[in-house]
Amino acid sequence: MEKIIIFDTTLRDGEQAPGASMNSFQKMEVATQLEKLGVDIIEAGFPIASPDDFVAVSAIAKNIKRSAVCALARCIYKDIERAGESVKKAKRPRIHLFLATSKIHLKYKFKKAEDEIVSIARDSIRQARKFCSDIEFSPEDATRTEKDFLFRMVEMAISEGAATINIPDTVGYSYPQEVFSLITDIRNNVPNIDKAVIAIHCHNDLGLATANSLSAILAGARQVHCTINGIGERAGNASLEEIVMAMKTRKDVFGDFYTDIDTKEIYRTSRLVSKLTDFVVPPNKAIVGRNAFAHESGIHQDAVLKKRITYEIMDPRDVGISESSLVLGKHSGRHAFRQRLKNLGFHLDEQRLNKAFQRFKEVADRKKEIFDDDLRIIVEDEIRVVKPLWQLLSFEVSSGTQVKPEAKVMLKKRAKTLCGVSSGDGPVDACFKAIDKITNLKVKLEDFRLEAVTSGKDALGHASLKLKNKGITAAGRGSSTDIIEAAIRAYVDALNKLETR
Ligand SMILES: [Zn+2]
Repeated sequence: MEKIIIFDTTLRDGEQAPGASMNSFQKMEVATQLEKLGVDIIEAGFPIASPDDFVAVSAIAKNIKRSAVCALARCIYKDIERAGESVKKAKRPRIHLFLATSKIHLKYKFKKAEDEIVSIARDSIRQARKFCSDIEFSPEDATRTEKDFLFRMVEMAISEGAATINIPDTVGYSYPQEVFSLITDIRNNVPNIDKAVIAIHCHNDLGLATANSLSAILAGARQVHCTINGIGERAGNASLEEIVMAMKTRKDVFGDFYTDIDTKEIYRTSRLVSKLTDFVVPPNKAIVGRNAFAHESGIHQDAVLKKRITYEIMDPRDVGISESSLVLGKHSGRHAFRQRLKNLGFHLDEQRLNKAFQRFKEVADRKKEIFDDDLRIIVEDEIRVVKPLWQLLSFEVSSGTQVKPEAKVMLKKRAKTLCGVSSGDGPVDACFKAIDKITNLKVKLEDFRLEAVTSGKDALGHASLKLKNKGITAAGRGSSTDIIEAAIRAYVDALNKLETR
């Protein structure tokens, strides 16, 4: 059996998705989970892009041991130097270099001739090799590059020591058969191709990213670039969960290949990335969507109960969706709580466990049944906040069809208790205005969203929003069985982030 190397770029291409940005603490959380998921290479960022990116890549390089850690660089010396510096402490460092090779890019982006492009790439690979022995090279926009020139670039890159050659479908324009022919042509026309691994990097502009990636594997690619939930530039990248589960489910086609992904960690990873990037997974998303394994039609439900394979091609347990997700209630003790968290993969220290348990009790008082998804939200809420400046103490709201909504909110700032009262267009608006009176900040609310985490009338509500103040944006999240409280918690969370920047 041949191994397909999984190159995850959630933290680089995925993070480039508009609005998806994470701080370095959150990136570390994702990297840790990706390692647990079993990805071979984590592309941790683009260090030259910002000091934050550099810090995040360096921290991931230092802490991740099993997966290789990769930094992206353009073919520019200061990029390469910065990338090399950032992965210096990694156990298995890699530098990923890219340079556009298509006529369209050469003509409009660089205004450079082909020979010049080859020599820039050659110099850059040599420079990068001084920092790191593992080099991956991408001729950007490869699928729209003249084939002869592409073969020439690839041959040169391999002879300079690039061990992986990535073929990006940068604009998501290709079709599965084309990708198959392109990879085949590269294998047949580049004389030294057997000295390198061929990788594929597909975008989803036409909804073909997964199909194109799988096609590349069948043609001889042995590494795939992908992201969790398929997040990425524009319509996103090929999704890790789709590629891995397609290979696992269609053994008749992909029986000669395997990946090192622990598929049972897929669902958990998807939830984490969705939460930290604030990108909601569409309910009908393959593999990880809320409805991916939900059967609505009575005929289907009946058949699945008789024999699962009638309508289910995959077992939800294989991707880590537990069959009975009902877990705890108000009478569950600390031991059961700790055990359940352990099963979900959370390992908390005593202090955090206590905080999370306290919060769990509060929620359980109001909500009869606590599901795994509720637990995740509770725990992730608790482990994220580091010494908040503002804390919600209490609130009161009056609202109705015949009354003007009014709110009174009590917040704690260090040892001080502060109170704000305001009316508003609705109860949430009144609460936010009351908070503004306390903080005296002129914040602008953007992207306010409410959703139910689990089903039922007593479902835990999850609020996410963004606050903007003096050009800085911070995302906040909060959850509670009371949606107004969830909204207030999200608002206060975002305020805390604005203050700590
Ligand atoms: Zn890309």
